[in-house]
Amino acid sequence: MQASKQNNENTMTTQLLADLALANHILVNEGVLDGFGHISARNPQNPERFFIARSMAPALVEVEDIVEVDLDGNVHDAQGRRTYVERFIHSAIYKARPDVMSIVHSHSPAVIPFGVTGARLRPICHMSGFLGAVTPVYEIRHSAGENSDLLISNQALGESLAAVLGQSNVALMRGHGSVTVGNAIQQAVFRAIYTESNARLQSEASRFGEITFLTDAEAKATSDMNDRHLDRPWEMWKRNALKRG
Ligand code: MN
Repeated sequence: MQASKQNNENTMTTQLLADLALANHILVNEGVLDGFGHISARNPQNPERFFIARSMAPALVEVEDIVEVDLDGNVHDAQGRRTYVERFIHSAIYKARPDVMSIVHSHSPAVIPFGVTGARLRPICHMSGFLGAVTPVYEIRHSAGENSDLLISNQALGESLAAVLGQSNVALMRGHGSVTVGNAIQQAVFRAIYTESNARLQSEASRFGEITFLTDAEAKATSDMNDRHLDRPWEMWKRNALKRG
């Protein structure tokens, strides 16, 4: 009984790490990550730890490159490898949000204008209802002053970002990028891709005139609907990423 439970957990972890490596490739292929940015997944067997690639370009990540980090940002790796400076985005959000199982941090370009102006990113179509009524914007100057490199390079900055994220699914980071959370790798990837897509569409529509956004209830209903179909785009993104190699 004990042995079979252990086997089961090993199989789950193997699948999770394979999905995490693949998610790196998908997010590059779909234009969310480039040479920078990262995705992590909480360890379901030990919720006080999460998995993330060592410090490297996402397109090159394989399962063997993934290390384990605790919720204070300490890396636990037998080979002593290092991971991203901005691992504190992940450690602090996992600590603040027990519901979050996966996090994407990206610099995806269409989102940037919404972090540096008064224009608020809001759900413009039914694929991005998860944005909800308000997409908060994190201003690092409130925590790090006016001379910082804008990176979330320690746990205290991670906590200030997590506080601004609150219960939202997405937070923008002024002059830097965004963070997207989900209850699984597939949901975080879906949201990261459609956050970028929503930003593109909203920029385009704003040139034509006043935008009719989804109501809060429409946002909730469409988000619940899409959550039931996460496998469909995932399988397509997967095939496209694998084709690219
Ligand atoms: Mn960054």
